[in-house]
Amino acid sequence: MSVPSLPTQMHQSRVRMLLWVSALLMVTIGVGWATFFAIRQAWLIVAVESAMAIMGLLVAYLTRKRRTRLAFFVMLTTVYASLVAFGLVFDIPDAQVPRSTHHYILLLALAAMLVLRDEPGWMRHSVVGMLFVSYVALSSTTWGIQTQYLISNDVRVPGTWINTALAMLGLYALAHIMVTEVVASHALEVDMRKGIARNEFFLLYQAQVTHKGRVIGAEALLRWRHPKMGLVAPGDFIDLAEQTGLILPLGAWVLRDACTQLKTWAHMPEYSHLSLSVNVSARQFRQRDFVEQIQAALERTGANPKRLKLELTESMLVEDVDDIVRKMEALRSLGVGCSLDDFGTGYSSLNYLKKLPLEQLKIDQSFVRDVLSDPNDAAIATTVIALGKNLGFAVVAEGVETMGQRDFLISHDCNIFQGYLFSKPVVVPEFEAFVRASQQIESEQTS
Ligand code: C2E
Ligand code: MG
Ligand code: MG
Repeated sequence: MSVPSLPTQMHQSRVRMLLWVSALLMVTIGVGWATFFAIRQAWLIVAVESAMAIMGLLVAYLTRKRRTRLAFFVMLTTVYASLVAFGLVFDIPDAQVPRSTHHYILLLALAAMLVLRDEPGWMRHSVVGMLFVSYVALSSTTWGIQTQYLISNDVRVPGTWINTALAMLGLYALAHIMVTEVVASHALEVDMRKGIARNEFFLLYQAQVTHKGRVIGAEALLRWRHPKMGLVAPGDFIDLAEQTGLILPLGAWVLRDACTQLKTWAHMPEYSHLSLSVNVSARQFRQRDFVEQIQAALERTGANPKRLKLELTESMLVEDVDDIVRKMEALRSLGVGCSLDDFGTGYSSLNYLKKLPLEQLKIDQSFVRDVLSDPNDAAIATTVIALGKNLGFAVVAEGVETMGQRDFLISHDCNIFQGYLFSKPVVVPEFEAFVRASQQIESEQTS
């Protein structure tokens, strides 16, 4: 049985498909018209059409390399510039035949809405707005530059039919894709609601280890066991959960479950020292009663607040910083510490960092990955370690996969690690076995 894909994966594969089709059209239309006009010896048009075909090849190459954003902008600028130039030089309307090549601009506008859906609103709206304004101008005027290259009406009459029909067909296909995307993301939202009610979500634990190999805690990472799609990672549903507000019940459940686990470990001497880090999303943290919710979860479960850490991301620091500081101080007075996750990928200024009552910084795994091969990443990683230490924070490196990375980080005074080198995120019994094994090694070394 084939497993249905998630809306985000489907969206990405639709975008790639759209780019493949665009590249194919650019090459075939470019070569086709270049040949047609070569026969008529209109060499300027041949040059323009050949350039279009070459750019089509570039779009195909970038799409193959999965550089879809760049591929889209290359396609957009080339096709837009060609359509405007075509409309103003070769396809000037007269009393007998209207302009028609500019109808393809509508297709570009819809494609831009689809491809740029996750870009900032100003970018999407300005690109689409510029395309619509150009469309209105080319539809409502007879603007044009009269040259010898003007295409004769015997070609433009059938061209009007063909261009308009093809543009309408393209609009139909794109509108269909957009409706499908909305329906799919709605279906996932409905599934998520059901999933929360049916306990389909669960936590995995990834060890946090010192340079001596001692496990000091874990990060709780959410997973969803979808009845049809199987195991779903947070990257595929957290954004939608944020947009729909479902992150609030989901986040509350994560906190309760993590606190219950802490309470269970508190009774077991091998695990009672472990701390647990929980990821908190911006929307959760922004709730007015967020601190009260944490307090209630701690009281209800009886977990030790000193063992709980909340991982915040830099993206939430763009909001009201005073409110964030107030909440973090209230959490600290409860005994709960805060950690800044994925440090270095967001926009937090050093000024914020100084103000925030943090306990921990986590160096983002993108810097750790290339710490041995990219001098810039090495410089960022070592600077973050020094910065964190000087501000009095513990520094954790995430995404540590090799001994080489670990040794490099140790030599720069980073002493806490998380990554596949030590353990992947695993279920509780596996995590507990890992803790026991590391304790065993430690006691053998000391004896
Ligand atoms: P994060 O908090 O930065 O978590 C670290 C991610 O890196 C995890 O991905 C983990 O599995 C992965 N990872 C750890 N070590 C390695 C390694 O050595 N190599 C590689 N390639 N990856 C490694 P995961 O579990 O898919 O989580 C992704 C993100 O989803 C998390 O990033 C966090 O931002 C978010 N998330 C996870 N659980 C929750 C949750 O309960 N609530 C919220 N709001 N967000 C969550
Ligand atoms: Mg995290
Ligand atoms: Mg992280």
